[in-house]
Amino acid sequence: MSASGQLTDCVVLIGPELAPFRCVRFAWAGDTITAVDRLAPCNTLDDGAVVVIPGLYNSHTHLGDSALPDGATGLTLEEGFFRPHGYKYRELAKLTPATHQPHLEAHLRYMARSGTVAHLDFREQGPDGARLLRAASSATGVESIILGQFNDSPFSAAELRANAPAQTLPPAHLAELAELLAVADGFSESTMNDLTTAAWAEIRALTSTAGKLRAIHCLENAGYRDLSLASTGRGDLSRALADYDPHLIVHLTVATAEEIALLVRAGKTGVVNPRANATLGLPLPPVAALLRAGANLLLGTDNVMLNPPNLLAELDFTYKLARSQFADALTPEPAAILKMATSNIRAALGGDHHGALEVGLPASFVALDFTVGHLRHTRHLLASIVTRLSPADVLATYRHGRALFQAPGFSF
Ligand SMILES: [Zn+2]
Repeated sequence: MSASGQLTDCVVLIGPELAPFRCVRFAWAGDTITAVDRLAPCNTLDDGAVVVIPGLYNSHTHLGDSALPDGATGLTLEEGFFRPHGYKYRELAKLTPATHQPHLEAHLRYMARSGTVAHLDFREQGPDGARLLRAASSATGVESIILGQFNDSPFSAAELRANAPAQTLPPAHLAELAELLAVADGFSESTMNDLTTAAWAEIRALTSTAGKLRAIHCLENAGYRDLSLASTGRGDLSRALADYDPHLIVHLTVATAEEIALLVRAGKTGVVNPRANATLGLPLPPVAALLRAGANLLLGTDNVMLNPPNLLAELDFTYKLARSQFADALTPEPAAILKMATSNIRAALGGDHHGALEVGLPASFVALDFTVGHLRHTRHLLASIVTRLSPADVLATYRHGRALFQAPGFSF
């Protein structure tokens, strides 16, 4: 079982507000934090320190295509990623579990090395795909919260266009869904346009009964909204909220002010993926408008094929993007961006997901080396955490008291 450990004379970001404090001691035993002995608030360093922050949550990944880094370069979203003939699906079909799983594990280890303790994955390939990621997660200790999807689309394009009220899931797909929900933490689908209204109602009811999560990509580009309007008379976000009631709505890249208001009124959490959107030549998500409207936001890196799952880089990009969109040098505070990879997870997932450090909470944390020359004299600790870190600055990543990564030569 997990051991215990401690750091003395360190800086800890405490609680969901991520308040930086110089601490005499930070300690854990088993899977739980047992001491955060604070001395004084501390947002500057004069001579370096080890800095402890909550373990990061990557709230949107597709680890499945981690065997294909940069494989979609030169392809459109549709050519690269859409079922059934997109590059991703053609290439995934060529892998065996034995050739696939090492890629998943390698990227989970890279995530741990860059401070991530858990991720929410839109897992393709049905129940088998979910089982493969579960095995890789067990091998590495990084928590995979798996949102599975059907292996093959249940409906033809003509059936989707007609969207008949009686067009429920075929029996084979109902059976696949039951098998999927037995292994996965929830359900995901690429877009609202991939299933009929009747099928969404079935999936909503079955996932609710099973106590599982629901997630969906919405408004990644205008085509999602346009296609939904053409087949149902409603945009994809309003359909998602009315018919599917997802816990997580991913992308919102082209969300309008009205759509943002709809999301906030529904009390739903949005997941933005700015670097992935930029790589595809899409607009950047309206992070400032979402923050201004009071949306609970999380951060994801999306397909590994498209974007390395390194949240340290995503934090930096998102912070600068948000400042540019707010058009002032004061907003948002760096902490507002760091919360998107830490304490904002609580409102979306609950349970033992806190994204925060306090006595009694899970010992899921990252120790950062702020003793090195480029960090040891920071004049604003939170800003430096958000904008100046690379994986080389991570000393250790722990989840529930278990070491997922520890730098050579470093020990507690
Ligand atoms: Zn995605």
